[in-house]
Amino acid sequence: MTFTEDQIRRYARHIILPEVGGVGQARLLDSRVLVVGAGGLGSPVILYLAAAGVGTIGVIDDDVVDLSNLQRQVLHATERVGRPKVDSAADAVAAINPDVRLVPIRARLDKDNIRAILADYQVVADGSDNFPTRFLVNDACRLEGRTLVSAAILRFDGQLATFRPGGPCYRCIYREAPPEGAVPTCSSAGVLGAIAGVMGSLQATEVLKELLGIGETMAGRLLIVDALSTTFRTVRVPRDPGCPLCGDHPAITDLASHGSTAHACG
Ligand SMILES: [Zn+2]
Repeated sequence: MTFTEDQIRRYARHIILPEVGGVGQARLLDSRVLVVGAGGLGSPVILYLAAAGVGTIGVIDDDVVDLSNLQRQVLHATERVGRPKVDSAADAVAAINPDVRLVPIRARLDKDNIRAILADYQVVADGSDNFPTRFLVNDACRLEGRTLVSAAILRFDGQLATFRPGGPCYRCIYREAPPEGAVPTCSSAGVLGAIAGVMGSLQATEVLKELLGIGETMAGRLLIVDALSTTFRTVRVPRDPGCPLCGDHPAITDLASHGSTAHACG
């Protein structure tokens, strides 16, 4: 593809990087990423992917902007309280980069719609705030052969991992979703707004690396961040041969075990 003069100026700091260059930038403009949840993690993910010129960004979220979101969900604005988050996201992205097409999907991800949605995207960034959605996205990405960059936040803590076809999956770390109420949520336990920025920015970085095929992937590794002590720890996560999804004798071969709806916000 040939760049316009505006594009050469807009992406100059990418193009000058030997690891990106004009070829890499053109690849980003051709890329399709699905972001699950336009919330605390989704905000920096969507903003940075849009600024980077990722050509098509699908955003799935069924929620509206609430005043209590604005402490961390920097994609949204006070004047957009009450509006669908996907519409607020589309406004924010349009203001940043006219090269980017945001596909608003105002729906709840569920076992019946997720596989058709994934078919349109190469890489998925999961910024949902609940276990049913995270397991659904993990299972669907594996069954559809999609790379998943997954992050989670709570209080002052964050986690990040990438799951690629052939490597370990989310269920290799957490076998199944904990019973509802067993693990606190951001609404019950709180979250420092800026940790969403830290983890979402790392998530955007890993998505860009996967699209560009550069650097060391986070596949097979789990990053654990503690903002109170400012420590970043990486642990190896091997594929579990007994994993019910990606193990040697998988019990999960479709999405039938998932409930009909899963909530995605963050
Ligand atoms: Zn697995």
